[in-house]
Amino acid sequence: MKVISVIGISGSGKTTTVENLIREFKHRNLSVGSIKDIHYEKFSMETPGSNTHRHREAGAELVTGRGLFETNIIFPYQLPLQEILSFYHHDIVIIEGDRELNVPQILCARNTGDVEELKNPRTVAISGLISSQGENKLPFDYPPLFDARKKFRELAALILEKTPPLLPDFPPECCEACGRSCRELLADILRDKGQASECVIQDGRVKVSIGGKELPMVPFVQEALAGIIKGYLQTLEGYKPHQEIKIEISPDS
Ligand code: SF4
Repeated sequence: MKVISVIGISGSGKTTTVENLIREFKHRNLSVGSIKDIHYEKFSMETPGSNTHRHREAGAELVTGRGLFETNIIFPYQLPLQEILSFYHHDIVIIEGDRELNVPQILCARNTGDVEELKNPRTVAISGLISSQGENKLPFDYPPLFDARKKFRELAALILEKTPPLLPDFPPECCEACGRSCRELLADILRDKGQASECVIQDGRVKVSIGGKELPMVPFVQEALAGIIKGYLQTLEGYKPHQEIKIEISPDS
């Protein structure tokens, strides 16, 4: 699954860019998911006085409104984006408004001041209102500029070409097995100086999944876990070295 983020201040053209990209990816027969990260303190999916609102007010910790054509599950707190992404199984997911995830970003800007403030090594393209100024007016070292209303095909093609499958995002002190941090690897991939296959996590020999979702573990943690489990198991009768080990743990009752 590829994940990108469309960032920029309010009114810079983010939603128009997201809309055009979704339409173009659908036109290419890709499955598309989207997430809108909302930074408005008073935002709520709930309507005061609705039945689900009354459930929540009474103390329900998870509330679902199931209609004939849609289902709203309302968590009464902010879920981490990584956890939200675990619900998505699409070819590409577009997040509008998040600057933190380790994913390529399209920067929607009104002017070069916005670009200077927000561009970073994950910026793969510039779009938004600034597009009307034309490429030639921008500094030569800026990422490429696309008018998402007219050049959405070209922008979509660049995104598909550059965006690797979702990479991990461990702090540098946890893993540098590819020779740099997770964020530096993404920045290198976007500038054709690295490849997603350099991340060793997928090839690790220890895999743990919880509730069907794989838990990413840096090589050090994998080796530590393998050592602890093997240490216990080899004291048991029937233990055989050099064999694959599988353990399943049922939920607490
Ligand atoms: S090997 Fe993978 S997990 Fe480790 S630093 Fe590189 S990208 Fe991150």
